[in-house]
Amino acid sequence: MSVQVQAQVSLKPFNTFGIEVKAAQFAQAHNDDEVRQLLAYAAERQWPVLVIGGGSNLLLTADVQALVLRMASQGIRVLSDDGQRVVVEAEAGEAWHPFVQWTLDHGMAGLENLSLIPGTVGAAPMQNIGAYGVEIKDVFAGLTALDRHTGELRDFDLQACDFGYRDSLFKRNPGRWLILRVRFALSRGTQLHLDYGPVRQRLNEQGVEQPSAQDVSTAICSIRREKLPDPLELGNAGSFFKNPVVAAVLVERIRQAHPGLVAYPQADGQVKLAAGWLIEQAGWKGFRDGDAGVHQQQALVLVNYGQASGGQLHALAQKIQGDILARFGVELEMEPNLY
Ligand code: FAD
Ligand code: NAP
Repeated sequence: MSVQVQAQVSLKPFNTFGIEVKAAQFAQAHNDDEVRQLLAYAAERQWPVLVIGGGSNLLLTADVQALVLRMASQGIRVLSDDGQRVVVEAEAGEAWHPFVQWTLDHGMAGLENLSLIPGTVGAAPMQNIGAYGVEIKDVFAGLTALDRHTGELRDFDLQACDFGYRDSLFKRNPGRWLILRVRFALSRGTQLHLDYGPVRQRLNEQGVEQPSAQDVSTAICSIRREKLPDPLELGNAGSFFKNPVVAAVLVERIRQAHPGLVAYPQADGQVKLAAGWLIEQAGWKGFRDGDAGVHQQQALVLVNYGQASGGQLHALAQKIQGDILARFGVELEMEPNLY
């Protein structure tokens, strides 16, 4: 086999929480052939396989008794361009934010609101990444995945991915589909999404009257840098809980006791609550127990101050979940993938 497999590899550099656990076996795949070689090698030895990208949506609670296969495939190509609509394909191992920058540098709009999200292209469909009013489903043009049960390649269109709020078919079937490359339908025009949170305000502050997609990206990067901890400085996996979508009747009950409740009505009559607001109201913002903590500026983000274990972070998360359920009657679901 041409790919190198290493035993007992520290995963600390490969997860943004910076948790020190080991992979029993570790390898990086740079193309489809290496993916297939590694899956066959693991199958012969009856090793389970855990596929990872940038490790920015993982909570590792113990040494991983598997072959950890890190997607490192590179390549971006334009599949079609009619002067207005451009379809671009990127390999799974491409880093997400540099890919977004590449599209903007080439005059393509559509991904700007998703700037500065860590991780890889291949993991982006897993939870239909979203930020500032845009999700990848809004610009999705297809993907190619390997069915790990049959070894066959399959192309998925938008409908087949069954995307939901931070959710997809792939997230609901862990270990089945290995995403090899993803396609996006972008625009040569500028249909911008500026009405979410502080985006327009930041553009105004920056003196930008007629923003380009690049201006929106720059504004969003500056907002994110102020609010979110940089994993290179403070270990974290972004939002630790999904924003719960609950019945309107529950929202009214909570609002009676908490008139400032932050809530967003959904098309189906349910209401999305800001999980960070609930956690902050419950007094967890800035909480620290050893090296596991809740970020001081953003209560939705759990942080590792250095030596926290995945178990300690998980225990803290469970305490928060129990407290939010007791106080508000709302169940918080973890967003990162637990191993
Ligand atoms: P990993 O963490 O490596 O993997 C995540 C899951 O996908 C795992 O279950 C893994 O097994 C699986 N997986 C990875 N690659 C593949 C593949 N090629 N095929 C099949 N399965 C695969 N998320 C948002 O949605 N919006 C945000 O705004 C956002 N902001 C963030 C900010 C910070 C500071 C951080 C640390 C995280 C943030 N995230 C956000 C979460 C995270 O960056 C995204 O979910 C990202 O897409 C994860 O990519 P990754 O390559 O790091 O995936
Ligand atoms: P924020 O702007 O302080 O808003 C708090 C929450 O309210 C967000 O989670 C958002 O839900 C919701 N919200 C705000 N304005 C809304 C609107 N106009 N319509 C519907 N919902 C609205 O949030 P933030 O923490 O600074 O994050 C900004 C954006 O980046 C959000 O979209 C967030 O999801 C994304 N982000 C995600 C992660 C992650 O790891 N998943 C990490 C950092 C940032 P939504 O989350 O549904 O947008």
